[in-house]
Amino acid sequence: MRYSLLNFIFCPYCGGDLIRTALKEIRIDFNDTFDILSYQINKKDSLIGPVPNFKKNTSLTKILIKHACSPDPLEMDNTADIIKGLLICGECNHWYPISNFVLELLPDHLRDWEKDIKFLSEFSDHLPGKLYKKLQKRTKFFQAQKNKIQDEIQDYKKAEISIKDKVDDQDFFGPGYSSPFNKDNPEFTQNLIKRFSSVLPFLQLKQNNVVLDVGSGYSWTTEWLLKMGFEPIGVDICRKYIDVGIKRMRNIRPHLIIADIENLPIKNTCLNSILCYDAFHHIANRKKALAHFFRVLKENGPVVFAEPGSDHEHAQASIEVMEKYGILEKGIDAEDLKFYCEGLDFLPPEQHFVLKTHHEEQRKMLTEDFINSHSFVDCNIYVLRKSAGKEKPIKGNLSTIT
Ligand SMILES: [Zn+2]
Repeated sequence: MRYSLLNFIFCPYCGGDLIRTALKEIRIDFNDTFDILSYQINKKDSLIGPVPNFKKNTSLTKILIKHACSPDPLEMDNTADIIKGLLICGECNHWYPISNFVLELLPDHLRDWEKDIKFLSEFSDHLPGKLYKKLQKRTKFFQAQKNKIQDEIQDYKKAEISIKDKVDDQDFFGPGYSSPFNKDNPEFTQNLIKRFSSVLPFLQLKQNNVVLDVGSGYSWTTEWLLKMGFEPIGVDICRKYIDVGIKRMRNIRPHLIIADIENLPIKNTCLNSILCYDAFHHIANRKKALAHFFRVLKENGPVVFAEPGSDHEHAQASIEVMEKYGILEKGIDAEDLKFYCEGLDFLPPEQHFVLKTHHEEQRKMLTEDFINSHSFVDCNIYVLRKSAGKEKPIKGNLSTIT
């Protein structure tokens, strides 16, 4: 996780700022693994910092401030990438793991607490005793509370998170290691790239603009957006897909987060655009997701969708996937989108068509039949745009947004 990601994220539980503690980092400039632990021990320095502007004073913020180092020696910028560490919320006592470069910001009821408690224990000898004990104690409390959280659609999310356990095909994740390229399926490869290039102009991105890549999966779209000169943040609920993507990308890593779109841990009005590339049709509570999209976008910011149409859930392949893996497959059309964003200040949804026509057909009427039979891409393209000048900050606990 690069430090600059801290500019865009917050605690999914309370919306508080997060402070980092790292055990291992890499310096991207030199491609050196930087063992911050041995460095800090030699320097008798702390592993904690930099300190954000905490809005509240708590016993935890006091401990964190007391033990925090200044940004030196790590130059808290894009040249350092955390391989293993924690992000701590001083205001509500939550902490979140960073492992294999990737930050996990899942809400309590979707976390694997046994795995996380084991992960925290690796920090026992490296954090100030008081801090470690406090985190450990609060972790047990949050773990005990997790069943009280209401989320009627969590089964879909848990199915996505644990998809690895249901896969019996040994090469199921194989394509992700070269994604979007797949020498065994050139037609599919072409479709992926064609779809991406068709929706890209609608994002209206300029250099260094920040774009959220929703449900990024193997994250090749996030990787390409980074290579094009933008600052993408890939978000997916499933760790396995992102880990495969990390292996493929080697040293060119965009921001990647494991998180729930319906509890999106992104700060208000900090994004230029949002891309939903073959992802929105897996989201169950679409009104809640769109409320978050509205909250995080800047004025005039577009949400661009490349998604299957409304008959998607009736296709044989979709039925099989739903039965086998328990994942939601539900397409959308423009009317659905209008319904999902009722009450939010988006401009009316647009649907765009990319058509393949002959010279002789250019004077034909654009009937629905003509459009359907001349489609150039295998997806529906929708654009939603946040209207300008009407900020509606959403207050309160993020998990209560409906
Ligand atoms: Zn918090």
